[in-house]
Amino acid sequence: MTYLAVPISGKDLKSCKEQIAAACKAGAEMLELRTDYIEGLDGDKLAELIASAKETGLPIIVTCRDSAQGGQNNLNPFVRKQILIEAVKLDADLIDCEYANFKKQEFGDSIKNALAENKKTRLILSAHNFKGPFENLDSIYEQMFTDFPDAIAKAAYLAKHINDCFAAFDILKKYGSKAIAICMGQTGVVSRIIAKKLDAFLTFASVEEDQSTAQGQLTIEKMKKTYRFGEINNKTEFFGLIGDPVEHSIGPIVHNACFAAEKLNKIYLPLLVNGGQIEFDEFLDNVTARGWLDFRGFSVTLPHKVSALEYAQKKGEYIELTAIQIGAVNTLVIGTNERLTGFNTDCGGAMDALTIAMGIKRKQLHNKIVACLGAGGAARAIIAGLVDAGAKVTIYNRTILKAQQLAKEFECHWANLDEIKNIEAEILVNCTSIGMFPKTDASPIPKEYIKPSMVVFDTVYNPLETLLLRQAKQAGAKVVNGSEMYIGQAAEQFKLFTHKDCPMDVLRKVTIETLKNKYLTPDRIGG
Ligand code: NAP
Repeated sequence: MTYLAVPISGKDLKSCKEQIAAACKAGAEMLELRTDYIEGLDGDKLAELIASAKETGLPIIVTCRDSAQGGQNNLNPFVRKQILIEAVKLDADLIDCEYANFKKQEFGDSIKNALAENKKTRLILSAHNFKGPFENLDSIYEQMFTDFPDAIAKAAYLAKHINDCFAAFDILKKYGSKAIAICMGQTGVVSRIIAKKLDAFLTFASVEEDQSTAQGQLTIEKMKKTYRFGEINNKTEFFGLIGDPVEHSIGPIVHNACFAAEKLNKIYLPLLVNGGQIEFDEFLDNVTARGWLDFRGFSVTLPHKVSALEYAQKKGEYIELTAIQIGAVNTLVIGTNERLTGFNTDCGGAMDALTIAMGIKRKQLHNKIVACLGAGGAARAIIAGLVDAGAKVTIYNRTILKAQQLAKEFECHWANLDEIKNIEAEILVNCTSIGMFPKTDASPIPKEYIKPSMVVFDTVYNPLETLLLRQAKQAGAKVVNGSEMYIGQAAEQFKLFTHKDCPMDVLRKVTIETLKNKYLTPDRIGG
């Protein structure tokens, strides 16, 4: 079992007790009493704190962190050592002692003597690096176990890149429940969830976001509801969204809700991969070299869709024809022997959204006159689908050269953006990011150019209803929401990931609700 531990970090006993109650209510499985946070800490306060924590029935760790390793209140070594010794006498289940201090003979011997007197208390030996990864992580664990074989060995370090997390996964694979390995920072978030699959002794979570004691700590609610922490086991398969940024993406909420609805032992993670092709390649090399992590597929978003295609091509992996034509892969599936397959579900998602709204089959797009605004990644996917169906597409883009290149590639037309006033299209597709949150008061074209006979499709889905779509509705045009394209591509990904049909009602409901909550101000909801 991997305990979901909550640090209790109040400045006084009253706030500690409130935090303990809130942690219990939220579903904490272990409490870490960060006694170094308490102002004027002494033996009486420690005894009262331990007593109230014990009332919960949860196992407790007593920590009195050295300020050199992230501790508060700059407590001197004597006080810190005495607090730990006292905690052992008061039957704390575990104490956490920095390995650097434990190695100092007098400090270490005192702790060892206290533990010898009370076998009920276990020792966590810990090492922290808030600046970056440890160079010699493996030897740190080896030394800790050599010096105190019954210890639980813990290292927590800042992951400067998601690729820094793999060293922690290797440690957990090797030592399982005898170890704790945590990667701090946004890129390390996944280490807190994957810890459970690898049977780490514990992972930390906070009750409220503002109560986290380390960067990247998730709330218990997110751990339990979004990432189904309670259900993760050694058979769990991982999926995820590779991109930069990913923090505010709705992908993890949406895909995890669909996995949960189908009772699948699969979890979808936010995978912040900074950098370009080199870092992307390194990430996939790391994943595919560790089949035991059970990563089985990825959604790929900005800025890595082209890198995903190039990686798959370099490795001689199978890439579906549409993805090659578009020049971008937004879905990777990992199969037997860690071989990859690349797909692009943006195209199918967009074509479904458009044709379902118009009540037509894809082939009925033949000869339809389409104006496509934008020449980026979304435009490529949509133009590929439209041209394939025989639509007559004209590309309008701010950077003319890109419009020209794309038009040449897909054998369609291009025009200057200012020619849009003469637009005679039956279908208008916005593939620019104009109108996207937070600049929601912008629209790619003046409302006068929208005609009632048009179908207006905005790929932007945050907010749910863009200014362009509101104006198109007012003009009497038929509108197609970007969220429908999102839903379409996510449904295809679900099928590629699971070989099952996506629970569409769940996908649609969760997508719309999440987008509403994230991007619409209350006065706009439903308006
Ligand atoms: P991208 O590759 O960066 O392309 C952005 C496009 O927008 C380019 O054509 C760019 O023109 C244009 N643009 C950006 N700011 C502009 C401005 N201020 N004025 C005029 N043109 C501007 O991005 P992308 O991946 O294609 O994404 C574009 C939009 O599609 C995003 O809003 C995204 O949310 C949406 N999208 C939706 C889905 C979905 O599932 N619904 C999927 C993918 C993308 P230049 O070439 O001149 O820079």
